[in-house]
Amino acid sequence: MDLWNKALTGIQAQVEPWDFAHWIKPVVCDVVDEARGEIVLAVPDESHGQWLEEHFASYIRKELSRLGGSELRIRYTTYENRQGPLLAMTAPEEPARALASSPAMPAIEVLEPIEPPNLNERYRFESFVDGPTNQFAMSAARAVADHPGTRYNPLFIFGGVGLGKTHLLHAIGHAVREKNPRARVRYVTSEQFVNDLIQAIRSDKMQGFRQRYRDRCDVLLIDDIQFIAGKDRTQEEFFHLFNTLHSSAKQIVMTCDQLPQSIPDMEDRLRSRLTWGLTADIKPPGFETRVAILKAKADLEGIDLADDVAMLVARHITQNVRQLEGALLKLVASQKLMHRPIDLDMAHQALGAMLGETLTRIMPDAILKAVVAEFKVSLTDLKGPRRHRNITVPRQIAMYLIRELTDVSLPQIGQLFGGRDHSTVINSLKRVEAMRDANPEVRTQLDRLRRMVRDGA
Ligand code: ADP
Ligand code: MG
Repeated sequence: MDLWNKALTGIQAQVEPWDFAHWIKPVVCDVVDEARGEIVLAVPDESHGQWLEEHFASYIRKELSRLGGSELRIRYTTYENRQGPLLAMTAPEEPARALASSPAMPAIEVLEPIEPPNLNERYRFESFVDGPTNQFAMSAARAVADHPGTRYNPLFIFGGVGLGKTHLLHAIGHAVREKNPRARVRYVTSEQFVNDLIQAIRSDKMQGFRQRYRDRCDVLLIDDIQFIAGKDRTQEEFFHLFNTLHSSAKQIVMTCDQLPQSIPDMEDRLRSRLTWGLTADIKPPGFETRVAILKAKADLEGIDLADDVAMLVARHITQNVRQLEGALLKLVASQKLMHRPIDLDMAHQALGAMLGETLTRIMPDAILKAVVAEFKVSLTDLKGPRRHRNITVPRQIAMYLIRELTDVSLPQIGQLFGGRDHSTVINSLKRVEAMRDANPEVRTQLDRLRRMVRDGA
């Protein structure tokens, strides 16, 4: 036993304090069996043993051999199966601590079982499609998941409805747990938080409430924090919770539909804390990202979504990713009901109302007009054979926008531009995609043109 206690000191000096507390400290030396040449270490459960073997075995071996135990084989057993003195565990309500019955044993902390967090399986970083309007929020979320409690604390994600805030929050939870299965991740909506608090006050169980949120929580994920506006008692409790977690380097992530400054009826001292760390916004995704999201979701559903259909949907549903998903589900359902493959025609029929009949049909002419105005070229040149760069770039951009904003087919686009064939059109589209990806100015210019077309300017 002494051997292990000495080894502990050596190991402690080499591993992160958090790892030490969670992984090494709970290990109890069961027996040192010189005759068999093994040291038996008791751990809370089998997965704990596996984790130790994978991540910390080298430290343990090094220390043991430094202390002259190099011949010893390490074997793991569970608390339950250990042979040594029994552990007397105190009631779980107490800060989990187990007392060794033998005076030679140091008091050890027994890890409480980790309740699995209520996270949606589908909301993971892997299934989140990033684009210019949500990239910052996603990178921030990833950074937080990689280094909880150290970097951006709190992380405050804000944006409109259906743009992926909840998705990112769950993704953080999953990623933290993947890196560290014993991390205690707590996800709640602020409504649940309020209800939980009311319940605790009513039944006089505030101590339990505080334990749940303060002591038994390494990462707190609170969704839609705006709902605590106007609720003084909740704000008061949350304020103290925030301070406790923050000062003990526990990670807090919140989402909101607006900036803290604009949440009404919020205490100033709390409002200011919400922006102590990093604030990241999510805006509606641009056209390309919307197409990519549709394609990714279709992949998940196991269906092959043609480009033109994805573009049709992405063109009409612009403000909310949940609606994009809704449209896709409708297509999948129609495919089954109507026994028809998902093509443009079917999509028009199935989605009719959803695609917004109010939306005026954008005609290629409006796009040509906008491009002519933006680049100061003549319509004749734009449609004609000239191949000077001053003309070819605007021409390619016009083709690209016609493809994006209208239902005109590739051969028809070729026709519009003096009978060019459809492979030329495809090449032009690729050129613009490359320019767009490489050059932010091109993206700005495309956005400006889209606006001109929409506003009929
Ligand atoms: P919010 O919480 O911002 O209202 P959600 O996170 O609930 O939005 O997102 C609504 C739906 O859209 C979810 O099913 C989510 O998976 C999906 N979603 C939103 N943004 C993305 C994205 N960038 N990539 C993939 N799916 C997304
Ligand atoms: Mg949400």
